[in-house]
Amino acid sequence: MDLDERIQQVEQRVNEACRRSGRARNDVRIIAVTKYVSLQTIQQLLQRGLKDIGENRWQDAREKWEQVGSQANWHFLGHLQSNKVKDIVGKFNTIHSIDRLSILQAIDRRASALGLTMNGFIQVNVSGEATKSGIEPDKLEAFSEQLKLYSSVRIMGLMTMAPYEAEPEQTRPVFRKLRELRDLLNEKSVLPYRIEHLSMGMSNDFEVAIEEGATWIRLGTVLAGREGG
Ligand SMILES: *Cc1c(COP(=O)(O)O)cnc(C)c1O
Repeated sequence: MDLDERIQQVEQRVNEACRRSGRARNDVRIIAVTKYVSLQTIQQLLQRGLKDIGENRWQDAREKWEQVGSQANWHFLGHLQSNKVKDIVGKFNTIHSIDRLSILQAIDRRASALGLTMNGFIQVNVSGEATKSGIEPDKLEAFSEQLKLYSSVRIMGLMTMAPYEAEPEQTRPVFRKLRELRDLLNEKSVLPYRIEHLSMGMSNDFEVAIEEGATWIRLGTVLAGREGG
């Protein structure tokens, strides 16, 4: 399949999932995850109107970012180390992987020094897998209470990764739980403002995520493809 066919198929599947769940197509936004593909493919995605680009590691993203710059909206998705924060803040538009207080503090400090507000998602380890980053669900409220101290970070919502399942339907409880956590934070007014967004759903499970309320889906293989090794 070439890029145009993949885009068309993804669009059709997103549309169908929206229709099944009574959601507006505009409420679901797509991040093209480009960690497996070249600069050239990013440029083709941009030409086709896919402007939200996701990368996992600064080392891999750097050259692409230097070439593409602000033609794209950049989303940082990977586990973030403190010494990389200076590279990401001011270049990426949104960080999806805020998963501990020290990284929140580092992002806030850097954003404040640059005089900007950094958009972020709190990553939650809903599935409890030891290999996954993220705040444990029962620590989310205490973590969120700290946010008012870090006013150079604006939290858009919650992010999670479901375990890979051969049967995508199995991921549903993970996505449902993330939605319930968002609703609970809003009901209890834990943050100084309401949070709207859910960053959830990847190539294998995005339709289930949409049915459970995803507002940002992050698609690598199924959309941008996989090149090289
Ligand atoms: C790689 C990655 C994706 C996209 O993965 P695919 O399964 O190829 O769609 C989405 N989110 C995160 C955090 C990733 O690391």
